[in-house]
Amino acid sequence: MPIYVYQVSEGRKGCAHCAAGFEEIESLSAPPTAVCPVCGAPVGRVPTAPNVGFSESGLDDRAKAAGFTKLKRIGSGEYERQY
Ligand SMILES: [Zn+2]
Repeated sequence: MPIYVYQVSEGRKGCAHCAAGFEEIESLSAPPTAVCPVCGAPVGRVPTAPNVGFSESGLDDRAKAAGFTKLKRIGSGEYERQY
């Protein structure tokens, strides 16, 4: 399931949890999180880009968990499974 990063809405103070941003794992069919689960302030999704990760908590692990196979190039036209 995709992981979304949420942060308190602009102009809102929020709390320690949502001011710094937090991650939520949501199924595609679930409605987006609208409020901070800690303080109830309105939150919005923060766009994230690969390798500019908001969190350093293991993008590789997430890719692995999502079923992706990371391939490492070991030679011309040859690839080796890292997992
Ligand atoms: Zn909060």
